[in-house]
Amino acid sequence: MESINTFDQAAVATQSDAIKGRYVTATKAFAPGDIVFKDEAFVYSTCDCEELLDETTDFTKLLDSNEDQTSYARSMRKSFHKILSAMIEMEIISDVDRAKCILKCITMYIGDKNSLSNLLQLSYANEPACKAAASTLRKDFPIAFQSIPLSVLTKIIGVLNTNSHELETLNGTGLFLSACLMEHNCAPNCSFTTNETTLWVTAIRPIAIGEPLSIDYGNMFYRPTSERQATMLEGYGFECTCVACTELPDLARAFICPNCPSGIVHLFPKEGYKCLQCQKLMNQKQIDQVCALEKELQEELPDTLEGVGQAAKGLLHQHHYLLFWALDALGLRGAQALVHNVTKLAHMWDRIITSIEYVVPGAHHEKTIYYDQLAQVRVITGDIGGAKQAYSKAYEISCIVSGANTPPTLALKELVDDVPKSRDELVERYGTGHEDEYMEEMEESDEEDEDMD
Ligand SMILES: [Zn+2]
Ligand SMILES: [Zn+2]
Repeated sequence: MESINTFDQAAVATQSDAIKGRYVTATKAFAPGDIVFKDEAFVYSTCDCEELLDETTDFTKLLDSNEDQTSYARSMRKSFHKILSAMIEMEIISDVDRAKCILKCITMYIGDKNSLSNLLQLSYANEPACKAAASTLRKDFPIAFQSIPLSVLTKIIGVLNTNSHELETLNGTGLFLSACLMEHNCAPNCSFTTNETTLWVTAIRPIAIGEPLSIDYGNMFYRPTSERQATMLEGYGFECTCVACTELPDLARAFICPNCPSGIVHLFPKEGYKCLQCQKLMNQKQIDQVCALEKELQEELPDTLEGVGQAAKGLLHQHHYLLFWALDALGLRGAQALVHNVTKLAHMWDRIITSIEYVVPGAHHEKTIYYDQLAQVRVITGDIGGAKQAYSKAYEISCIVSGANTPPTLALKELVDDVPKSRDELVERYGTGHEDEYMEEMEESDEEDEDMD
């Protein structure tokens, strides 16, 4: 990772546009899998003290292992517990890691007014809510916040709210100043990966000189167009006009064609609900019918494999996003319930993988997770050859979305080269992250099974 260019060294340029604001373009061509640049967190915090908030009001006890007293301004130390508690009650802040990041930025600002000059140039959404939060903090904690102009405090809250990245390996959140200059696209040409406090951006499609670099702000890889657009407007304050939103069919909303047996219908932005096979359009009555069913399912997703099968009612195609997410939610619990029914378990995972390959045919970070989970399920069912195949697929995708010689890709390489042979070995090999929880759940189900025996 050391040899990777920082933003300043990388073959990229920052551009400015009256409508788009600032964005980043490539100054050389990139191939899929090329790492474009890396960025260190400007500020970051973890959620480590979240549970301690109920137990102690002691400032020093609420510090993370990477923090010391000087991480926070003297003026906020005495009421630190009260301030943090008040901040996480505010909807626009909510999380303790984000609250801490805000307090650290204020601390930097108090130390040197110019230290936030780059941060304060970033754009953000939800101005009224940010301003309301800033006003409340200044009123309720004058000693800590009165010296910060309302406009600056509003902006710090806004920028952290809009631009923070999750730091999975640290259970926290961080702000990466260069990465948030990149524009959003629902079908982006770049992907980002975080490890500890480093974020790096990788090209996932061929990128030409001059092309804007884009990432998917909301990670909405299997969400319908209307939902993606609503999220962008609410969370980031702009209407997405990317090709996926304005020209391509909405693959996440998939229906069985009423006019031909194997056809699949999607909503096309200009033409309406059209079958890819027979090209016929759905009539209004058919459209009303599928929309009513979607509405019904949005309120309550089926929570059994049989339920998912019945929910389609002959109208929704198996690639429909509501059926996919119902299966995804079943992923962990479903695997537990089906661990002794290998055929059903394999069937469920085949469906998940087939659907994600249909809706997201290109390389995508989430697909490495699904193939990794598929591999684990195959280990559990004793299909070690199949597990190796799934790990290989995850590794192949990771080479593109995270770059070949990076920690997450190398971890998958190890799994390909030495596939775990049993459930116990899986538990041993998966040290941290979501897979760990997954295995814990599997373990619990094992214990339950033993209880039942
Ligand atoms: Zn879009
Ligand atoms: Zn058709």
